[in-house]
Amino acid sequence: MYKSIKYYVSQHTSRTVLLHKEGCQYLPRPDSRSFIGSCYTPAQALTVSLMQYSNIHYCPHCLSDVTHAKVAPVNPPPLIPLCGAKKPPKKPKEKQLKAVRHFPV
Ligand SMILES: [Zn+2]
Repeated sequence: MYKSIKYYVSQHTSRTVLLHKEGCQYLPRPDSRSFIGSCYTPAQALTVSLMQYSNIHYCPHCLSDVTHAKVAPVNPPPLIPLCGAKKPPKKPKEKQLKAVRHFPV
């Protein structure tokens, strides 16, 4: 049986947001985090938070067991540097989100 857990997001870098669950030791103070809602799974919390934010990553401390989900890895494997070569800037993928309405049958 699932139990709902409170989820929060906090600003990680200027462009990325971290998704935490209640009780994480790295969860920022209340004035620098946003309550997402009470969800049953981290994936559900991610879906909810994607409606308001983009570039969301799971917190590697409190949600490390779900990093296999569809979110981009927080720390991609380092590339072997070529002489004088620079890594091209990554373009963020635009995600098309549609609100899902559940009508009673
Ligand atoms: Zn956390």
